[in-house]
Amino acid sequence: MIRQKSFSNNAPTLYLVATPIGNLEDMTFRAVNILKSVDIIYCEDTRVSGKLLNHFEISKPLKTYHDFNKEVKSTDILKRLSNNENVALISDAGYPLISDPGYYVIREAINEGFNVVSIPGANALLSGLVVSGIAPHPFTFIGFLDHKEGKRKKQLLELIDHKETLVFYESPHRISKTVTNMYEVFGERDLVIARELTKKFEEILRGTTKSLKDIVDLKGEMVIIVEGKQEVEYNPVISILEEVNLLIEEGMSSKDAIKEVAKKRGVPKNDVYQEYHN
Ligand code: SAM
Repeated sequence: MIRQKSFSNNAPTLYLVATPIGNLEDMTFRAVNILKSVDIIYCEDTRVSGKLLNHFEISKPLKTYHDFNKEVKSTDILKRLSNNENVALISDAGYPLISDPGYYVIREAINEGFNVVSIPGANALLSGLVVSGIAPHPFTFIGFLDHKEGKRKKQLLELIDHKETLVFYESPHRISKTVTNMYEVFGERDLVIARELTKKFEEILRGTTKSLKDIVDLKGEMVIIVEGKQEVEYNPVISILEEVNLLIEEGMSSKDAIKEVAKKRGVPKNDVYQEYHN
């Protein structure tokens, strides 16, 4: 067990700081204060984060951290923490780690006994989920599906029986194809596209896989929220006896037919057995 009491030890800290997903007013006071207090900030793109830091008059050294150089950069970050420096990690927008780099370095920092502290703020998946009107939980966050259609469909197939609401990130040029694939794999389900959240052209399109699959000319950043598989109530008009006999007529043994009907109706096998033999 590793027990971290975040604010009652003097261990150096790696802060994971959420930044706005469009609207700068979503930057928190705490995020600004933490970024002003750390020794160095790691980010994805120094131009993007440079603008944000400028806006909030934060002048701290800025370095990049990407998944492709995570080992080297993690070594840098751990060295700094070992030298008693506090470090912040931010991404271009929203939470670091969420479809963004950072997982590797936080694992390393945890294993080395440093504090890892989250500074909450804006995030696209939760902002989209709560305005969608689709059941907010339980939900499964998938993030980006594969770029290749074949792989994307395979990923969707693996999700076909999930009852939880599904949340995806998608880019504008693939949105129609992806929603079409969702219709092909899931059939008709409620689906919401939350676009340009927190920005001037924010738009929420609430419909279904079918009604939204041909959507064109959607620009900007978007989150897709899809309803999970719904339980279809099995409520046949025919009696238990008639149903068992039907299956037997189709070639099933009476034992298998009884088992099948019990399973489909969600009733004890013995009840079906009694019904059949009486
Ligand atoms: N780390 C970010 C977060 O916490 O939400 C997500 C980063 S991921 C690389 C970028 C994707 O997030 C976009 O392609 C889009 O799917 C989604 N996204 C980011 N900002 C958004 C916004 N303002 N509105 C809708 N979706 C957004």
